[in-house]
Amino acid sequence: MNLLLLGPPGAGKGTQAKRLQDNYGIVQLSTGDMLRAVVASGSDIGEMAKEVMEAGGLVSDDLIIAMISERIGEDDCRKGFILDGFPRTYTQAEALDAMLGEKGLKLDFVLEIKVDNEAMIKRIAGRFTCAKCGAGYHDEFQRPKVENVCDECGGGEFTRRADDNQETVRERLKAYHRQTAPITAYFAEKGLLKSVDGMASIDDVTKQFKDTIGAAESVLT
Ligand code: ADP
Ligand code: ADP
Ligand code: ZN
Repeated sequence: MNLLLLGPPGAGKGTQAKRLQDNYGIVQLSTGDMLRAVVASGSDIGEMAKEVMEAGGLVSDDLIIAMISERIGEDDCRKGFILDGFPRTYTQAEALDAMLGEKGLKLDFVLEIKVDNEAMIKRIAGRFTCAKCGAGYHDEFQRPKVENVCDECGGGEFTRRADDNQETVRERLKAYHRQTAPITAYFAEKGLLKSVDGMASIDDVTKQFKDTIGAAESVLT
């Protein structure tokens, strides 16, 4: 099963992708995580990406498309994948269609997480992750069960993203509304789009996803 998650920055794509990954045994492909790894490597491409990300813009379509195209061909994607943060432009959406067609693959669901602007800003402002395993947390909505100890790996070090600051977030939201929001129509026209209420709790959003996928599968089988 191949899924695509859509939604603005802070909507909960990464949080839900990790849960779907565990639930269905399919891999999360997050272009944001991939880019942060490239930035951490300190390569020339990483330096270029870093600048764009810190300004809240979008990294070039060519780089992103090459990155995903290579990743989707790897063995662990054969059982299925969850695209998180890609596509973000029309060009990327069309490139995705082309690469899936070439590989004889298709998307089973495009799931859109709907949230209002205020919630997005609040979610981004309180977001932090475990430095060791990448598990996601929130100051208010998802604190570790034991203060300063990661629920998943027991790690005690946490990080916050450099681009989760007020100024960059404003630019990221602009980029979202200008370049990414319009592609929901692209998938709606294909009859693939399902929307869930992202203002609900993390558990409830997961339930909405499972119900949507489950309901469609029982119709298909
Ligand atoms: P995205 O990948 O869409 O940018 P994340 O999954 O990183 O978003 O979520 C942003 C922040 O909001 C995280 O700190 C996460 O713990 C929190 N969060 C995610 N979903 C919800 C929710 N439904 N309600 C409250 N907080 C949430
Ligand atoms: P969020 O879901 O909080 O917006 P991501 O981790 O998905 O954050 O992305 C962080 C940054 O990485 C984006 O602001 C953008 O600069 C870059 N990026 C991630 N995915 C893409 C993409 N598909 N196309 C272009 N830039 C991307
Ligand atoms: Zn951890």
